[in-house]
Amino acid sequence: MKILVLNAGSSSQKSCLYEIEDDIPQQPLKPIWEAKVDVRYQNSLAEIEVKTETAKLQEEISTLSRPEILAHLLDTMCQGSTKVINQLSEIDIVGHRVVHGGQEYQKSVLITQDVINTIERLATLAPAHNPANLEGIKAVQERLGSVPQIAVFDTAFHSQIPDVAAIFSGPYEWISQGIRRYGFHGISHQYCAGRAAQILGQDLASLRIINCHLGNGCSLAAIKNGLSINTTMSFTPLDGLMMGSRSGAIDPGLLIHLLRQNNYTLEELDHILNKSSGLLGISGISSDMREIRNSISEGNERAQLAYDIYIHRLRYYIGAMIADLQGLDVLVFTAGVGENSADVRENVCEAFDFLGVKIDKTKNHHQPVDVDIAVPESQVRVLVIHTQEDWQIACECWTHYLSNQNKT
Ligand code: ADP
Repeated sequence: MKILVLNAGSSSQKSCLYEIEDDIPQQPLKPIWEAKVDVRYQNSLAEIEVKTETAKLQEEISTLSRPEILAHLLDTMCQGSTKVINQLSEIDIVGHRVVHGGQEYQKSVLITQDVINTIERLATLAPAHNPANLEGIKAVQERLGSVPQIAVFDTAFHSQIPDVAAIFSGPYEWISQGIRRYGFHGISHQYCAGRAAQILGQDLASLRIINCHLGNGCSLAAIKNGLSINTTMSFTPLDGLMMGSRSGAIDPGLLIHLLRQNNYTLEELDHILNKSSGLLGISGISSDMREIRNSISEGNERAQLAYDIYIHRLRYYIGAMIADLQGLDVLVFTAGVGENSADVRENVCEAFDFLGVKIDKTKNHHQPVDVDIAVPESQVRVLVIHTQEDWQIACECWTHYLSNQNKT
């Protein structure tokens, strides 16, 4: 069975093709074809990189149109050095990461015209992402006709968060207006929780897990009985932890102050909070943790301050999540920073020494992947997991495919 996964960001597009033989394996499979596109708006160019097991292709095409870019990508699957199938009709099912499913979708769904209309309506909640996801869905409809398409929502894993954690302490009417904590990175949090249980050989339902997804965007999820019971991102992906260029949580009164005193426009405020805050805003250097660490080693004080705030925020929210979980069995680090920065992991964990969190420093520094880096006597297991959102989406497609087979 061939499963195509499309993961569209606001200015990027990741895609991959999996081939599953008889049953879904325990370990994630490597895709037989994968592609990454970065859009360069200034030059009206799309930079494309396609990889298969035996070939690699890098090129630029002069268009900003997502349907045209996708059509081009799909062609590379059937032609030239990156050919892995004879024709697109060999693709059995297509899975899309859709950022916002609102309160409407608590799990992934088969895409129908109704679903498309709802994703369109929910674009007011995710203006940079849902429209990009829809373009992907429509491009597939155009090129692959009636192939079944599955929407896998980044919010769905958090849809069971209890009201006390989901409802903001504003006016009661906000509830009926859909103003609440939705949470994001759900596909990654769900994948890592399942993988953590698998690595430890324990039942997911028996574990209290905090998953730290630390990429350009950062969020924590508190997971109990296999469900997210709280998360740091909320109505938008701006809340919670300090991120690469996003502020994370700030005093809401500050926004009123800035609007009143500095006459900021909404666009300016949006830009400040999303694009020029976080590690970048404080350091003035970069949103990239590698550059922050390099600058610290050269003695840069602003980089040090940015790093210290980043760690402080992480410890602060992990503390809050431990209270929500009423304990902790597993702490997971994932995504670009979580998987690669031994310093971040060590500095976070040392704050929880009093709870018996103890890591093996040698293991921590040896690029662990899907490994427990806690010492045997640690009261909490500490895992580094390579997040695989695309594989999680492929698994959701497989589940849909199977349930459909069982019906027929
Ligand atoms: P995204 O959220 O866009 O998917 P990633 O999960 O790929 O991002 O994370 C990107 C971030 O990972 C980079 O901005 C960088 O700060 C961080 N990163 C990648 N490699 C390292 C490393 N070796 N050490 C520290 N941070 C790293």
